[in-house]
Amino acid sequence: MECPYCKKEMKKGILSGDSRQGIAWKEGDKRASILDRMGGAHRLTAAKSNLSTFKIVAHFCPDCKKMIIDTDIQE
Ligand SMILES: [Zn+2]
Repeated sequence: MECPYCKKEMKKGILSGDSRQGIAWKEGDKRASILDRMGGAHRLTAAKSNLSTFKIVAHFCPDCKKMIIDTDIQE
């Protein structure tokens, strides 16, 4: 997927989170592990709400710090 801001290719990954660890994004098909989260590299500081556990496919542009998420996926 192309970034609508800078037109570069976005990275496909998994956005996941829970109320204790916060929200994180990791490239590929697997959610960020506890170790990934402790490293802090994938943490989304924009997320402020208290969420229960979730996981969603999200395309991320590391340059613009933007994500695109499909909100209606039937699987
Ligand atoms: Zn971009």
